[in-house]
Amino acid sequence: MARKLVVDNVSFSYGQRPILRDVSFSVKAGEMLGIIGPNGSGKTTLLKIIARLLVPGRGRVLIDGRDTADWPPRTLARTMAVVPQETQIDFEFTVQDIVEMGRSPYLRRFQSMSHQDREIIEAAMAATSVLSLAERPMTELSGGERQRVIVARALAQEPKVLLLDEPTASLDINHEVEIFQLLRQLTSQHGLITVVVLHDLDLAAEYCDQLLLLAQGAVVADGSAEEVIKGEILAGVYGVDIAVYPNPLTGKPQVQVLVSGRQ
Ligand code: ADP
Repeated sequence: MARKLVVDNVSFSYGQRPILRDVSFSVKAGEMLGIIGPNGSGKTTLLKIIARLLVPGRGRVLIDGRDTADWPPRTLARTMAVVPQETQIDFEFTVQDIVEMGRSPYLRRFQSMSHQDREIIEAAMAATSVLSLAERPMTELSGGERQRVIVARALAQEPKVLLLDEPTASLDINHEVEIFQLLRQLTSQHGLITVVVLHDLDLAAEYCDQLLLLAQGAVVADGSAEEVIKGEILAGVYGVDIAVYPNPLTGKPQVQVLVSGRQ
């Protein structure tokens, strides 16, 4: 069977408050899905449900046809890696220490790492270009370097599914592009199923194979950038007039919010 992540009819409430309604979609291995939508539309909640940090009220999350509901934590940790928005690291961990933590789902208590574990760590650090930072403390890195290290830790987990919540929210545009190019490349090279929450529609259109547009907890559109990034769809969701133009270099749709001149 083709490797696939399937979210099947998921609904979720915080207490009495419905947050997600009948959300369904699927992502194939080697592809990157971008979840977009206004603030509060349920993007982070949906990512947490896929990661099983939250349990859906209704519906299922399947990986390779198997419902993840009753998977033991260790199996989940070997299958899925999560890259949060910002990672707070207060102790003087080195880059090497942080990436090594990615192997913990494979080690028993007090078991030391094998030669193979070390090779996996080195490959993850090479793929994200952080080998030269190995001995540096995390606290002394730039935001972009730190985020590459967190992606390296996620890769060291050897996940099938990589989940990222606005991974470039605090980065400059050059580092933002660098991280997305890296994610694109890793997704196809490693055949990962990558799901990324992001609010920047241009970045989403440029780098994701498939987009899922949420509004008020429901799927408004699901498809290629050309199918989802459309003026009439976005205007309805964001409540502003939006024009869409092809990027002159890549041909991908780009958005422009239309504001009338100041009175
Ligand atoms: P997004 O990521 O699209 O901004 P979220 O998934 O973070 O949206 O939030 C969706 C809705 O759920 C928001 O209205 C938010 O206020 C609410 N929400 C988020 N976390 C909690 C929580 N822990 N308890 C109650 N409501 C929450």
